[in-house]
Amino acid sequence: MENETVSKNFIEMIIDKDLEEGHCKTVHTRFPPEPNGYLHIGHAKSILLNYGLAQKYGGKFNLRFDDTNPTKEKTEFVEAIKSDIEWLGADWEDRLFFASDYFDQMYEAAVKLIKKGKAYVSDLSADEIREYRGTLTEPGKEDPSSNRSVEENLALFEDMKNGKFADGEKVLRAKIDMSSSNINMRDPVIYRVAHMNHHRTGDKWCIYPMYDFAHPIEDAIEGITHSICTLEFEDHRPLYDWVVRELEYEMPPKQIEFAKLYLTNVVTGKRYIKRLVEEGIVDGWDDPRLVSIAALRRRGFTPESIKMFVELCGVSKANSSVDYAMLEYCIREDLKLKKPRMMAILDPVKVIIDNYPEGQVEELEVTNNLENEALGSRKVPFGRELYIDREDFMEEPPKKYFRMFPGNEVRLMNAYFVTCNSFVKDEDGKVTEIHCTYDPASRGGNSPDGRKVKGTIQWVSAAHAVPAEVRLYENIVDEEKGVYNEDGSLNLNPNSLTVLKNCMLEENLKDAEAYDSFQFVRQGFFCVDAKDSTPEHLVFNRIVSLKSSFKLPTA
Ligand code: ATP
Ligand code: MG
Repeated sequence: MENETVSKNFIEMIIDKDLEEGHCKTVHTRFPPEPNGYLHIGHAKSILLNYGLAQKYGGKFNLRFDDTNPTKEKTEFVEAIKSDIEWLGADWEDRLFFASDYFDQMYEAAVKLIKKGKAYVSDLSADEIREYRGTLTEPGKEDPSSNRSVEENLALFEDMKNGKFADGEKVLRAKIDMSSSNINMRDPVIYRVAHMNHHRTGDKWCIYPMYDFAHPIEDAIEGITHSICTLEFEDHRPLYDWVVRELEYEMPPKQIEFAKLYLTNVVTGKRYIKRLVEEGIVDGWDDPRLVSIAALRRRGFTPESIKMFVELCGVSKANSSVDYAMLEYCIREDLKLKKPRMMAILDPVKVIIDNYPEGQVEELEVTNNLENEALGSRKVPFGRELYIDREDFMEEPPKKYFRMFPGNEVRLMNAYFVTCNSFVKDEDGKVTEIHCTYDPASRGGNSPDGRKVKGTIQWVSAAHAVPAEVRLYENIVDEEKGVYNEDGSLNLNPNSLTVLKNCMLEENLKDAEAYDSFQFVRQGFFCVDAKDSTPEHLVFNRIVSLKSSFKLPTA
C-alpha cells in the first residue's frame, strides 16, 4: 500500500484530494481530439492517461470529437481516430460525443452571459481587437462596444446567428478585464461569424464558438470531473474557470495540465506529419516511418508496447524529450518471448553442399524460442542447396571474422557443421555460389567429437524458400542535423527506407498474414505489411533491430 502511494503521479494526487474534499464524487475523464488528422504517439499518451485514470478510480471515460472548427474537419479522420483508440484498448462504451452536438447549449450559454452583463457584441475588426488587447507589459484598452445594453446585445447576437452579418463583421466577447495581467482574460472572443458548412451540422449555424468558451461547456455538459490537457493551456485555465463559474454549473469540471510527450528528433506534431503526407514524402498517414498510431500499428508495434512506453515516460509538468530508443526497447521487450525465431535471408547467396545427396530433404526440428519453451518447436526443411546471407561469407576475412570463408568450418544453425571449399564469381566479381562439404555426424548442429566452431549462421533451403520483400526503416529526419533546415523545410534522411526485394524466408513463413510478427534470427523483429503484402508477394516491415544501446534507467 505504501508503495502505491509513493508511485502516484501528480494528477492522481489532485484527484485523491478532490475526492476527499468532496469537489467530486467520481472520476470522469475524456479524450477530445480535433478530427483534423490522425492520432500520434503523443495522443496515445493522453488517451492512456485519461482512460487509465477512469479505470483506476472506477469512473468513466468519454471520447469527444472537438469539431467546433468547421474548416478542417473530415469524416475520414473521425473513423481513423476511433479505430486507433479501440486498438489501444481504451473503451468509451456508449459515450461517443461531438462538440457540435452542443451548439444549441453553447448558444444558450452565450445568451446567459449576455443577460448577466458578462458578454457583449463587438464591432471591432480582428486587427483592432489585437491592437486594443495590449501586450504583456501594457494593459489593453476598453472596447467601445463594451457598454452596450443587454437588450441591444441580445438583439445583435441574434442577428449574428441569423446571418445578418458577414464573416468578421461582429464578434461576441466575454466581459472580463481589459487590464488583466493574463492576456487571455482581456475580453476574449467567444463567438465568431463564419458562413461555413460544418461536417455534422451542415448550414444550420453561421456562428461558431471559440475553443476556450466551448471546451469547458462540453466538459460540464458531460459531467467531466477532471479535464486533462497539455501545458500550453495553463494560461487559459483562469478563463476556463471563469466560464464554468459564470455559467453556474453545479459540479464545475477542473482543468489539469501535463507536459506533452516529445520524441527526440522524431516528427510528432500533427501538422508536420500532415505536411509529410500532403507533400507525398511518405506513403500516407500510416507510413511505417511515422509515429502516428496507424503507422506504429502497421509497422508492427503492439498496444502493450505503447502502454509500456507511456508508463515509462511518466506524467509530469515539465516539458522534455524522450529518446526513440526507449520506444524500441518497449517493443523488443514485448515481442522477445512472444514470437518464434525464424530464419530469413535478406541478401541471399547460394550455398551448395557437394557431399549431400542430391534430391534428399530432411526435416530438422527447431525450437521456436529458446527463452520460452511454451512456444514449442517446428520442422524446417534442409537440402543440398541453401541460401545464406551475403555478409556471412568473405573471400578474404579480416581478423576475428568467424563466419564462412574458404577453409573455415562453421555451424549452420540447428543443422550441420559445414566447411567451405570453393566459390564461384560472376564477371563483376560478385560471389554467386559457395561450395561446401558437411559432416553428417554433426546433425542438429552438435559437435560430433568435441571440436569447436566459432561461427553459427542462419540459412534456408533453396528448394523450399519463400521469396519476399523486406523493408528496413530509419528515422525520417536526419538525426544529426535536427528536424528542420534553416529555411523551415524538413531535413529528410535519404536512407529512411531501404527496400530489399530478393529476400528468402523459411517455408514456415509462407502463410503469414497482415500484422503477424516474428523474430528473424540475428536481424530483428518483422511484421507483415497490412497494406502491400499479398500471399503471392509477401512484404515484411522491420519493426526494430535486435541491438540497442538503450538502457532502462535504474530507479
Ligand atoms: P498536435 O500538437 O500534434 O497538432 P493537437 O494538440 O492539436 O496535436 P488535438 O486533437 O487537439 O491535437 O489533441 C487531442 C488531445 O491530445 C489534447 O488533449 C492534447 O492536449 C493531447 N495531445 C496532443 N499532443 C500531445 C502530446 N504530444 N503529448 C500528450 N498529449 C498530447
Ligand atoms: Mg489542437
